[in-house]
Amino acid sequence: MLGTMQDGQLSIANLLRHGSRVHATAEVVTWTGTGSRRATYTEVAREAAKLAHALRGLGVTSDQRIGTFMWNNNEHLVAYLAVPAMGAVLHTLNIRLFPEQLTYVANHAEDHVVLVDGTLVPLLAKVLPTFDTVKHVVVVNGDASTVQAPDGVTVHSYAELLADQPDEFEWPAVDENSAAAMCYTSGTTGDPKGVVYTHRSIWLHSMQVCMTDSMALAQSDRALVIVPQFHAMSWGLPYAALMVGASLIMPDRFLQPEPLAAMIAAERPTMAGAVPTIWQGLLALLKQRPQDLAPLTRAVVGGSACPPALMAAFDELGVTIIHAWGMTETSPLGSVSRPPAGVSGDEEWQYRILQGRFPGSVRARLMADDGTQLPWDNEAVGELEVAGPWVAAAYYRVAEGEEGSEKFHDGWLRTGDVGAITPDGFLRLTDRSKDIIKSGGEWISSVDLENQVMAHPAVAEAAVIGVPDEKWSERPLVAVVLAEGQSATPDELRSFLAAKVAKWQLPENWTFIDEVPKTSVGKFDKKRLRAAAAGGELDIAHLS
Ligand code: AMP
Repeated sequence: MLGTMQDGQLSIANLLRHGSRVHATAEVVTWTGTGSRRATYTEVAREAAKLAHALRGLGVTSDQRIGTFMWNNNEHLVAYLAVPAMGAVLHTLNIRLFPEQLTYVANHAEDHVVLVDGTLVPLLAKVLPTFDTVKHVVVVNGDASTVQAPDGVTVHSYAELLADQPDEFEWPAVDENSAAAMCYTSGTTGDPKGVVYTHRSIWLHSMQVCMTDSMALAQSDRALVIVPQFHAMSWGLPYAALMVGASLIMPDRFLQPEPLAAMIAAERPTMAGAVPTIWQGLLALLKQRPQDLAPLTRAVVGGSACPPALMAAFDELGVTIIHAWGMTETSPLGSVSRPPAGVSGDEEWQYRILQGRFPGSVRARLMADDGTQLPWDNEAVGELEVAGPWVAAAYYRVAEGEEGSEKFHDGWLRTGDVGAITPDGFLRLTDRSKDIIKSGGEWISSVDLENQVMAHPAVAEAAVIGVPDEKWSERPLVAVVLAEGQSATPDELRSFLAAKVAKWQLPENWTFIDEVPKTSVGKFDKKRLRAAAAGGELDIAHLS
C-alpha cells in the first residue's frame, strides 16, 4: 500500500526561493581586509538570477559543469545557488591542489565555464591552457583583461556579464536525484576522485546541519564559515543557512589569525566552522592579544582530530569546540560529538573529545580485516564503514573494478578511518588506515601520540609518523613545531609523555621542524613528512 503524501521534490531552487523570501533580510557578509561588504538574501537571489541568465548566454542549457576557483564570499554563494538551481552542476575547484591535479579534475569533470576570483587569476593562468573543455572564464572581482585566454576560451568580466541581465529567473523543475554539485577528494590513492552531490542529498544534509544535536545552525546564528567552499561544500553551512535564515560571514582570502580576529570583533559571529589548524593559529594570537570573542560560543571543528588541549583552551575563552567527523564522501557530516544527557564533569569531557555520535540518517559499522563485523564496545578497533542518504555510493566515472571502486561494497562506504565505537554510538578514531603505526605487531595510534605531545605548553603542533625499525618493524617519529619563544628537548617531551602513554609506545625518535607540511585542505601531510624522513632531510634525535 502506498502512502497518501505528496512527492515534494527537494531542490536547490526551492532552497533559494525559500531563503530569499522568508529570510529576506538575513545577509551574507564578505570581509574585505579592512571592513565588510554585505548583501541580503533577497539581493543574493537577484544576483543568482542574473548569473543564471548570463550562463544561459554562455551556452549552459543543461547539466554542464561550472567550475569555481574562488574564496568564500558573496559571489561564491551566488554560484552555489544559481548553478544547481538552473539545472547545471557546480564544481568547486580546490585552489590548493597541485597543478597536475587541477588539470585532471577540470578535464575529468569536463568543466564548461570557470568562475575565477580576480586574486586567483595568476594561479589559474598556469593551468588554464591544459583545461580541455573550458570555453569561458569569468573573472569575479578583478580585471578580466589580465587573463591571457588560450585558443578557444573567451574571458568575461563577471560585473559586465551580469550588468544588464534580468534579476528574476524561471528556475526549472529538476529531479531531486540529479547532480547539483561536485567536489573532488584527494584523500585516496591515485588521481583525485569526484563525489557528486544531488539536490536531495544537499537538502537532507542541510536539515542535519540545523539539527540541535548536530551543528544546530539556526536563524539567530551568524555563522563564520572559515572552512573553504571548495572543501566539502563548506561543511554544508551555506545551503543550511538559506534553509533556516542564518547569516553568513565569509572571510574571503583573509584566513590568517589577525584578520580572523578582526572579523570576529567587527561582525560578531555566534558560531564558526574550521579545521584545527585555524584554531591553533587563532589561539596563539589570542594568547598574545586577548580579545572578547562574545557572542561566539560554539565552534565546530573537524577535518582532522581536534587535540583535546585545543578544546580545553577554547573552553577557557568561552567557546565550546564541538568535535565532528566527516569526509567529502559524506557531504561531509558524519558524526558530531554532543555528550549524552545526564553526563557531566570528566565523563562529559570523555565524550566531547570523541569524533561524535552518529545521527539517525548515517548508519555505521566497524569491520575487522577478515570482513567480519566488530562489536560496539569502545575497545574493538576496525575500519569504519558508513551508509546513508548523503553518503556517496560511487565516485564519478569510476566503474566497477577500476581504482577507487573498492571503496564501495554492499551499499557501504569504506572510510579508510580506523577506530572503535562506544555502545551508545560514539565514534573514537584512532587513525587513518594508512597512518597507523605497527610496532612489534601491536598498533600505535599516531593521533593519540600527537594529542598527548600537543598538550605540552611548549608545543604548537606535532605530527607522528611510523619510521622503519629493524627490531620492531616500525616505531613512531614525532615531528614537533615549538610554540613561538618556547624551547623543549626530546628528553623533556618524552618524560612529559611517560605519565600518559604505555611505556612501549613512548617514542624514541624526535625531530624539530618549522612547520608541519599540510595537504591542499589543511591536514597534516604525512606523506611528505614520511618522504622527508626517508630522504634523510630531517635532523632526528634517537633517545636510548
Ligand atoms: P576530506 O574528505 O578531505 O574532508 O577528509 C576526510 C578525512 O578527514 C576522514 O576520512 C578522516 O580521516 C579525516 N577526519 C575528518 N574529521 C576528523 C576528525 N574529527 N578526527 C579525525 N580525523 C578526521
